[in-house]
Amino acid sequence: MQKLIAAAGLASRREAERWIDERRVSVNGQLASLGDTADPQLDRIEVDGRPLEFAEKKLYLLLNKPVGYVTTARDPQGRPTVMDLVKELSGRVFPVGRLDLTTDGLLLMTNDGELANRLAHPRHQVEKTYLVRVRGMLSAQASRSLETGVRLEDGMTAPARVGRVRASGSHTWFEISLREGRNRQVRRMCEAVGCPVSRLRRIRIGFLEIGTLQPGKFRMLTAEEVGKLK
Ligand code: URA
Repeated sequence: MQKLIAAAGLASRREAERWIDERRVSVNGQLASLGDTADPQLDRIEVDGRPLEFAEKKLYLLLNKPVGYVTTARDPQGRPTVMDLVKELSGRVFPVGRLDLTTDGLLLMTNDGELANRLAHPRHQVEKTYLVRVRGMLSAQASRSLETGVRLEDGMTAPARVGRVRASGSHTWFEISLREGRNRQVRRMCEAVGCPVSRLRRIRIGFLEIGTLQPGKFRMLTAEEVGKLK
């Protein structure tokens, strides 16, 4: 059931599971349960009382999220969300993964639940590169620790790459590339090696680069880029 909802482009599989748990999904008038199967040709599947429609045009875009925008559909505190930046689109898209409120940079958004699901799966984690500014110096030892693994409260981090280290006054800039995507991972890793982050920008997701995309702006992916992502 959750797969069908994701395939219809309404949400990620995980989000769809939550909807089912929240009793918002029905099949032929009966509340659906996790693990139920249905045939989209024969059964009437409804979410919040609205029939599930397939064949929605798939949309894929790359947003340069500015600082101060939350990466959720709705914010209980009323702060601006990334959805506000893609309002002009004809269809609804949702973010693949998350950036912190104070992180800016690349965010992939789509209504292709299957792709979002696949990209978010630990097995397929694409490499993401961040431009980081930390307070103080990044010692060779701290840099090595970031690369080989840092012990965080949720376990050791996987190998990462650090490059383009450049000191600037009381700060140091560098790039770090990770294949994991834990909550606030870059900030926690840097904190753990004694270098608190003062700026964080995601500049690359796999082969997709930020280029000249301005903060708050987005661009649709080309058919070729979508093909490469799949
Ligand atoms: N790592 C972080 O700490 N924050 C982000 O927003 C992204 C990666």
